[in-house]
Amino acid sequence: MPEGIEVEYYRQSVLRTLNRKIELVETVDQKYLRDGHSLIDIKDLLEGNSFKFAGRRGKLLLLSVSNDMSIGLRFGMTGRLLVDGVSAIETLEYSSTKNEPKWNRFSLKFSDGGTLSINDPRRLGAIQINPNIEVLGIDLYEITISSLSKALGSSSRALKSRLMDQSKVAGLGNLLTDEILWRSSINPRRAANSLTHDEQKRLAYHIIQTVKQLTKLGGSHTGKLQAHRGTGGLCPKDGEPLERYTVGGRTTYSCPLHQI
Ligand SMILES: [Zn+2]
Repeated sequence: MPEGIEVEYYRQSVLRTLNRKIELVETVDQKYLRDGHSLIDIKDLLEGNSFKFAGRRGKLLLLSVSNDMSIGLRFGMTGRLLVDGVSAIETLEYSSTKNEPKWNRFSLKFSDGGTLSINDPRRLGAIQINPNIEVLGIDLYEITISSLSKALGSSSRALKSRLMDQSKVAGLGNLLTDEILWRSSINPRRAANSLTHDEQKRLAYHIIQTVKQLTKLGGSHTGKLQAHRGTGGLCPKDGEPLERYTVGGRTTYSCPLHQI
């Protein structure tokens, strides 16, 4: 699924659309509309205008429009952003690399003939007008020891759930979180408030390093643990059979030997 890294790729690809006049909003899937907005609202906001700035907080892509409004794009589990027919990412875990026209949930045409669209088989993405980004936590690219410590707070929830809570840390999804906890040698089921200061430091270090490295490598599916997620998977660090279970409803892999 698109995690913060993939949405950062989307943000970079959407820079190509800045200052190009939007001629027509062609498609907005009903399920993509939020807060009681309609297709007409989206058309009124975008047609005849252009995007001026592309920002991002976590998995939310933010596009400022020339009329001082903004739209937020969410990609759900399987949404891929295409600019002028080209996707910023070829491989998306859990998704398809096909661009079926029937999966087009949002598309618009620029007056120069180019396009921007979201292809989303599972239809779990969304378009918001002037989204409130204050409800989102610290962005995954901006983690520090103190912001992480604050995000973990006094919560006794499972650490993995807390890290994936977008109102605490914005942008970490299932694959990144498993990879980070595996590298940090911390068990995903630990209570978020049970980490020592040293463990918090180690976790912050591995969030920063993992996000940086996987951004360079090509996405949240390029971690060291990835190839071992599956039946009979062994820990690439020590060869121990990995444990598979769910945390907060998400399939989780961890090593019972070195993740404590
Ligand atoms: Zn291990």
